[in-house]
Amino acid sequence: MVYSLRSRLWLSYALLIALVLCLVGGAIAVVVFRSNIPLQQAAINLQNLRASTIPRLRLSSNLNSTALQALLDRNTDQIRGRIVILSNRGEVIADSLKSERVSLPSFGDAPLKTEVGALPRFYRDNNRRGWYYIIDEISPNRLVLFGVNRPPIQLFAIFRDQYLRPLVLGGLIALLASIIFSLVLSRWISAPLKQISQEAGQVAEGQAHPIPPRGPAEVRSLAQAFNDMSRQVQNSRQSQKDFVANVSHELKTPLTSIQGFARAILDGTVETTAELQQAAEIIESEAGRMDRLVSDLLALAKMDAGTASFSMRMINIKELLQTAILKFTPLVEEAGLTFSTSLPEENTHIMCDPDRLMQVLDNLLVNAIKFTPEDGQITLSCQVGKETLEIHVEDTGLGIPPDERERIFERFYQVDKARSGARGYGLGLAISKQIVETHGGSLALMSQTGEGSHFVVKLPLHT
Ligand code: ADP
Repeated sequence: MVYSLRSRLWLSYALLIALVLCLVGGAIAVVVFRSNIPLQQAAINLQNLRASTIPRLRLSSNLNSTALQALLDRNTDQIRGRIVILSNRGEVIADSLKSERVSLPSFGDAPLKTEVGALPRFYRDNNRRGWYYIIDEISPNRLVLFGVNRPPIQLFAIFRDQYLRPLVLGGLIALLASIIFSLVLSRWISAPLKQISQEAGQVAEGQAHPIPPRGPAEVRSLAQAFNDMSRQVQNSRQSQKDFVANVSHELKTPLTSIQGFARAILDGTVETTAELQQAAEIIESEAGRMDRLVSDLLALAKMDAGTASFSMRMINIKELLQTAILKFTPLVEEAGLTFSTSLPEENTHIMCDPDRLMQVLDNLLVNAIKFTPEDGQITLSCQVGKETLEIHVEDTGLGIPPDERERIFERFYQVDKARSGARGYGLGLAISKQIVETHGGSLALMSQTGEGSHFVVKLPLHT
């Protein structure tokens, strides 16, 4: 229950509300504590004391000290505070708390009359008790001090009477709102998440549907990532199926041929030595084709698994290209094509597996010869940049249509099977790309239909 998004959201809202209420309560307490509520209360008490006693005090103002003291002592029960009759110079004539020996405030040097009518003042007596007092006049030479104790701050009572109700009410409303918010918010987040988890189950069964992006940005990007992933899974499943179908197809053709000729030899259809010779040659050639296919598939599988061994060493790229030129010049001429080469002046060394790199050049040059009609031209050139080295293989042949360019590096993909001839089965470019990428480089195609093909091998100079 507590693990669900909704309950966690609600719990965090509730905690937040409780925290805010505590803070507000604390702030109110501080405000009340610092406010002048005690002073206001004291002023009321002082006014009450003054109003209830001043007429009688004024009437008795001419009495002597003993009579005044007796008057105050008689009325102690009714005096809610303290009354002190003073001379103009501040000498005590009578005091309602005389017996308790409670100290008076120090009046200073200023004439005491100036205090008459002033706002209540505060002082602490000899027992550290707080008092508010005012001074009034009862006759031209007699003054009276009315004092009341500082009323204790009834913090809890004030809080209970004035603030508790609105705070509890506000808290309840906030709690209700938080339940609604957490419901709406959790729905907004969890509904698309639920859909993703349902669809994830479908991926395993191969029936995932794309999820429309909904909910917060993070969940939307998760849905996007999920869609990409399930598309990739579907693609790879499809290409796995295609791969098996392609391999079976490519193996079936030579096998059928081998089987046919073997049977012909066995049942005596092939009789003469010349016919036997021809059948054996076909069987050998078809077996060779199968052998090449299996070797290529093994090489790809090893590179996919990362177990292919590359014997990397520093080599002079110019020497490697010169070897390729030497090897291919007769083949290019034999095909009735011209071979144009352009190598850099200086020697450039790169870290690579020369045999594998030669395999890439072989494949690109064989393709160029294969797909360029007579009188065409093949160009092999090399450019050394700051960070990378580029090997260009160009031809003036058939070229590759734009919509096929993406797929040209896929396994078993051939633009036109009839074009490739008996030897090709669409794995050469896939293997070449893998080899170049294992070297940290890239193999790209720049080809225009009718303008020939242009392949670029980019290799990093510093690895
Ligand atoms: P293949 O063994 O069929 O040549 P590749 O992987 O080397 O396999 O090439 C895949 C396909 O790409 C070829 O069948 C061909 O259709 C196309 N292709 C490759 N190189 C060229 C080129 N230089 N000119 C035109 N088409 C090319």
